[in-house]
Amino acid sequence: MAKVKPVEVDAADIVEKILHKAVDERASDVHFQSEREDLTVRFRIDGVLYVVQNIPQYLRDGAISFIKLTAQMDIVEHQIPQGGRLEFNHKGRLYDIRVSSIPTIYGEALVLRIFNRESNILKIEELGFDSDQIEVAKQIIANPYGMVLITGPSGSGKTTFLYSILNALNKPERNIISIEDPVEFHLDGVRQVQISEKKGMDFAKAIREMMRQDANVTMLGEIRDSDTAGMAFQAALTGILVLSTFHTFDVAGLIVRFTELDIPRSVISHALTSVISTRLVRRICSACSANYEPSDLEKRFCGIKHDPFLLQRGEGCEACRNTGYLGRTGIFEIVYFDDEIQTRILEEASPSAMRELFKKKTDKTLYDAVLQKIYDGVTTVDEAIRVVGMPLEVRRG
Ligand SMILES: [Zn+2]
Repeated sequence: MAKVKPVEVDAADIVEKILHKAVDERASDVHFQSEREDLTVRFRIDGVLYVVQNIPQYLRDGAISFIKLTAQMDIVEHQIPQGGRLEFNHKGRLYDIRVSSIPTIYGEALVLRIFNRESNILKIEELGFDSDQIEVAKQIIANPYGMVLITGPSGSGKTTFLYSILNALNKPERNIISIEDPVEFHLDGVRQVQISEKKGMDFAKAIREMMRQDANVTMLGEIRDSDTAGMAFQAALTGILVLSTFHTFDVAGLIVRFTELDIPRSVISHALTSVISTRLVRRICSACSANYEPSDLEKRFCGIKHDPFLLQRGEGCEACRNTGYLGRTGIFEIVYFDDEIQTRILEEASPSAMRELFKKKTDKTLYDAVLQKIYDGVTTVDEAIRVVGMPLEVRRG
């Protein structure tokens, strides 16, 4: 009689294989989603989700329990959301994986976010700025104090960008303290503080202590509430360069959000020196890139009226898993807060008036930046629409 292998061993084995594959394929997240019959596994690669495989029903509970157990979560509890962490060794490199679970109608859904501790921090020049923007960005971070915010939806490269800035500023003559949740990369020479709500170390408390630590530069992982916002602005006004991120789609909305967080307009206008919006677009795979004749809509998106006009796209190959894309690059919109913007904030200009003003003040909007990437053959119109949307003028035709 054939020897029966215990189900738990199979489940653990299958999960480990999936995680190895995820790291090999550069996935940022792995989703294990309970369905009516089985467990669907998806990878997020370059910002897009793909179904990778289905784990059959008889291994489903074993797989979920194995992940939760390894991440030190309560495996008996299935009804409330939980969080956990695990370390994963792939080809001799250590990866931190943050696990989140929520109960769904078919059972639990787990999302595993993969952090590569040893991944290289990019130079500012490698992020995707064009040459004019690089100069402005460098001037902005050379300010000795004030607040610089990086904005964009989650997964838009804000954290990568912040680390690049910190790395550029990381010199012995500067005392840099970062306050993070979680600390994603280790930077020698930077004092990195891990937030721990359980131990009573929240953002506001950490910022207060940071200000007593004679800091020149601080990076705050994210400004989420009025306590954090209040402390961050105070730090920016007392001679510290404060770098942080904020979830928002446009800069005008950001000023409204800060007033809702009880930050006086006078403080916003004095402390906030610039806002850099960022998004990530997928790069066309260089192994299968080819010219093609764009559709009318695509031409309209690019503002092209003449024929013939050729654009590039990836036709799909093994290197890019038939997606036509490999890797990503950033696009940026920089708004530097000059006297006119500061005055208009104090005058309580409406968000739409502010929006117009910002448009006038920026050299390049996100739309301009993504168009440049299309012309340069770096990305496609499809990708541009997915990431920055369709401008109203183009929709109207
Ligand atoms: Zn390809």
